[in-house]
Amino acid sequence: MFLLFFKKPFGIAFWESDPGSLHPTLDPDPTEPTFSLFGVLCDFTARSADELSVNKGDKLCILKEDGGYVLARRLSGDPNMGYVPANYISKITQEPVAQQPWYISGIGRNKANYLLLSPPNRHGSFLIRDSESNRGEYSLSVRNHTKVRHFRIYKEPGGNIYLEKGHTFPSLEQLLDYYTVNWKVIQTPLLLPCIQKRPLETDQWERPRSEFQLWRKMGEGYFGEVWEGMWKNTVPVAIKIMKQADMRDDFAKEIQNLKRLKHARLIKLLAICSVGEPVYIVTELMRKGNLHGFLNTGKELTTHHLLSISCQVADGMTYLEEQHVVHRDLAARNILVGDDLSCKIADFGLARLLKDDIYSTSGSALIPVKWTAPEAAIYQTYSAKSDVWSYGIFLYEVFTYGQCPYEGLTNQETIQQITRGYRLPRPNSCSPEIYSIMLECWKGHPEDRPTFLSLKETLFSIYRWAYHPFS
Ligand code: ATP
Repeated sequence: MFLLFFKKPFGIAFWESDPGSLHPTLDPDPTEPTFSLFGVLCDFTARSADELSVNKGDKLCILKEDGGYVLARRLSGDPNMGYVPANYISKITQEPVAQQPWYISGIGRNKANYLLLSPPNRHGSFLIRDSESNRGEYSLSVRNHTKVRHFRIYKEPGGNIYLEKGHTFPSLEQLLDYYTVNWKVIQTPLLLPCIQKRPLETDQWERPRSEFQLWRKMGEGYFGEVWEGMWKNTVPVAIKIMKQADMRDDFAKEIQNLKRLKHARLIKLLAICSVGEPVYIVTELMRKGNLHGFLNTGKELTTHHLLSISCQVADGMTYLEEQHVVHRDLAARNILVGDDLSCKIADFGLARLLKDDIYSTSGSALIPVKWTAPEAAIYQTYSAKSDVWSYGIFLYEVFTYGQCPYEGLTNQETIQQITRGYRLPRPNSCSPEIYSIMLECWKGHPEDRPTFLSLKETLFSIYRWAYHPFS
């Protein structure tokens, strides 16, 4: 995927996408010079199109690190590429034994006992580990019903190894091959390599609060304040600080959504401090703040910029649509703007994973009515198509430089007008083409509204046609 950043006069740069962006692939950046070899510690099943399913023992080359994930290319089995959680892999050392499924590094006799006696291991499970008492030598640990037997593997000065004097082998593989067949010698069969449980689900995002310094308050929302800050004195970050301890559950939902969702047009979670109070959610810093404020002060923005912003948000929403996640609060105030006028969708406090592609709620207390589709505002029925309605309102905000929709109407009056068929008028700086997209988004029946994928394709082609007709 090529994302080009063009510098414009008056200091504003804007994001531009080439046609390839409509169907992004995970092809690595050809300028990416280095990679390292890693082995997979345990099976991981991809949860989204950009993740890669891997099995224990697969070899990966790592193309880049991205938060708690790595972009990896599989070298064994089916070659493929995608994101894998960083704690499922470990660097492969030069020593081939480290890549063997039966070798477990860094454990002693007690840990070997614990692992072999824990499910799913059973009679005949075995492992090789480094000897605790003899540096450079190994031990074989084998489960025999409810006990574990440990055998020292001796090393001769020439490098050959053995369990019993006189029976030497040049490698651990050959030693194991021999005792797999001649297991009666050690009175315990070698049936299958020890299976290690998944890495402990210690949260890879959790960091100590002391790693973060707060610099200046940037804003305030329902849950708490947002501060610009620094992570370990080096990385500029945004830190959302929970206001009250009793909001922990709501905050947790936002955190879960941020952890699950990963896309270039979605705000990226960097860390969490949830041990003790107050809870921090640490995300990438978007220096220009929320889009609503930016539009209000951004009169120098041209239609070109406005269209670019619309394309980026459609791109991010297409990802949410694919993930069956409904945002429920799509509005310019919840889009954050970075230095290059790159826009990212934020505020996943209300986002929900859809079952049956519909989310129903019984309460309507916190509904942003003027952005909400009628079926959601009246019956609390949310779907990707109710987000499409909100996207139409978002377009209106963008092309009016942040004007409030239905100005002068109360929420109640807005719903009444909408159900009678009233729709917002075409903003002056908006072409009939873009306005017709808004009207499509505001179709009364959700099923008549376009999908985000088709909105994205339409907007991208308008953009290309207007600004790059020969590309
Ligand atoms: P909520 O309904 O969840 O309280 P909100 O959008 O009102 O949502 P926050 O998400 O708490 O509030 O954000 C408040 C403001 O802080 C935003 O409008 C924005 O200006 C600023 N902000 C939030 N996150 C960032 C960030 N990552 N980078 C820069 N500014 C941010």
